[in-house]
Parts: sequence; C-alpha cells; structure tokens
Amino acid sequence: MKCVGVESTAHTFSVGVVDGDRVLSIESSMYVPSEGGIHPREAADHHAREARGVLDRAMSSAGVGWEDVELVAFSQGPGLGPCLRVGATMARAMSASLGVPLVGVNHCVAHLEIGTAVTGATDPVLLYASGGNTQVIAFSNGRYRVFGETLDIGIGNMLDKFAREMGIPFPGGPRLEELARDTGEMVSLPYSVKGMDVAFSGILTAALSLREKGISLEVLSNSIQETCFAMLVEVAERAMAHTGKEEILLGGGVAANRRLQEMCDIMAGERGARCFVPPRNLLVDNGAMIAVTGVRMYRAGVVTPLENSGVRQRFRTDEVEVVWR
Ligand code: AMP
Ligand code: MG
Repeated sequence: MKCVGVESTAHTFSVGVVDGDRVLSIESSMYVPSEGGIHPREAADHHAREARGVLDRAMSSAGVGWEDVELVAFSQGPGLGPCLRVGATMARAMSASLGVPLVGVNHCVAHLEIGTAVTGATDPVLLYASGGNTQVIAFSNGRYRVFGETLDIGIGNMLDKFAREMGIPFPGGPRLEELARDTGEMVSLPYSVKGMDVAFSGILTAALSLREKGISLEVLSNSIQETCFAMLVEVAERAMAHTGKEEILLGGGVAANRRLQEMCDIMAGERGARCFVPPRNLLVDNGAMIAVTGVRMYRAGVVTPLENSGVRQRFRTDEVEVVWR
C-alpha cells in the first residue's frame, strides 16, 4: 500500500513515500534559526515555503505517480502548533483532492513503528531522545506506555542550548560529540534521575557555571554526554527489567550519537538483550516514519475523518489505542 507521509512537528519539514513497511523516498528541509532557539512562526513560514518543493522531490525520487497514492498520513502531534498546521493542511488537501483516506499519526509512536519496520526489533523498549522529546516507551496492555520521560526540556534542546552559549550554531549536538571525543576527562555534574524520570536543566546550569570557572569545552562536552546518557540508559534498562522486554530500540536525533549507541549496546549486552539502531535518516524526524505508521494504522481500520484532523500540540503517546499490534 503506497502512502505519502508528512512530518512538520518542529524544525523539520519532511515528506516520505512508502509502500507498506518499505521506504521509497524521504525528502526534508530543516529550519535553522538565524539566532537563538526555534521561533514557531518563523519555522512554520519556512515549512510553508518549502512544502511544495519537498513534496515534488519525494514523489519523483520514489518514482510514484499521484494515481498510485492510496493513503495520506500526517504528524498530528505533539509539536509546535503553527508548524503542525502547515503539514496537516497540506495532508488534508492531498487527501481531499486525490480522494484517498487520511490518517493522523502520533509523532512519538511513529519513531517506534519505523524502528520495528527497518531493524529486526519486534517488541522493544524505545529510547526516544530528540530535540524536544525525551521518553522511554514500550508496548503494554494495548498502548505504548511512557515508562520515563524528561521533567523539563528535551535532551537535544539542552545540548543545543549549551552549544549556543558556547557560540556553536544549531544543531549543537553533533559538534559536542566531536569535542567530547578529544578527551577522556570528566567533571561531576548533577545526576538527575527522579524515579523513572530525568531532568536536564540543572545540568545545563551547572555546566555553564563550570565553563565560567575555566573548565574546557572538551571536558564539559564529555561530562554532559557521560552524565546525561548514563541517566537515559539507567531508565531504559529499568523499563526493560520491569517489562521483561529483551530489545532496546533507539529513536530521535540525539540517538545518532555514537557514544549513546555504544552505552546502550553495552547495557543490552550485559543483560543478554539486543540493541537496535535505525539508519540516521530514519532516526531524525522524517516523513517516512509517519507514512509507515499510517499504513499500519489504516490496515487495522483507523482513519481520521476531516472533523478530527485538527492538530494536537500536546498529543500524548499513551492516548493512542494501538489496535494494529
Ligand atoms: P530531532 O529533534 O529528532 O529532529 O533531532 C534533532 C536533535 O538531535 C538536535 O537537538 C541535535 O543537536 C541532536 N543531535 C543530532 N545529532 C546528534 C549527535 N551526534 N549527538 C548528539 N545530539 C545530536
Ligand atoms: Mg522526533
């Protein structure tokens, strides 16, 4: 079943074309703020400007004609309202003009579904570490339950904010990873695991004040990574122990980090479990994960009528009834 998926929750506007679980194309355009953090209105304007070009490129590189499209899926939330509305509007228009059904997809759920579509994972605990989101998610009792999550900002936002204060442009995460590789040294930062949840803003504050005291950028980058990733791996491991699941799956842009991948792999190995990492273009926000999830939902009988297709900025992972598993 051929489906066009539209992603527009935050920085990235992306369209993916799939045939069932098979990814045929992904085309994306990322909004990069000229200064400071993401400005929702500016990001939405970027998405509106880029939408047509991204869609045309995705269709042509998939080698799929409009007459072949059987389904349209879009990211319904969670995310920034103005950004979400650009993708939703385009998806509604496509669905209406092609006369094919529309499916609204939860963005966090889509990170898990694409992972199971392209890696060998079947029933994983997902460690979803991205700019705006940080959650540990697993299937239990008909839904994807959030076993742990950030109590303040997403881990990627924290990395990007720290980087910005250091004069490193967005996205800062990859550059901090390089800096961290140049040293084996680390300083102590607040390790903030509260129950199954994590918090990052205290670490950011502490790191900034240590920088003022003259600790090098390399050592701070390494310390931030070691501390934050250890927190994430601890919570993910406890979710695995609690649910009895034997797979960990990574998702989100921060999961492109080699050190985080290595730590997850070690943890999995020590418990006789397996660690799965999708390729980078499917870890970051992309339209194909939305399309793959849309097909899975549609095949289980889910459609989103026009009157229910409004965007949901605070759409929770565990609100979705997972009828397709
Ligand atoms: P996403 O929100 O999933 O689109 O991912 C974007 C986030 O991933 C940004 O905060 C980036 O700084 C972060 N990121 C991308 N690559 C890396 C990396 N290698 N290490 C750490 N963070 C990364
Ligand atoms: Mg994401």
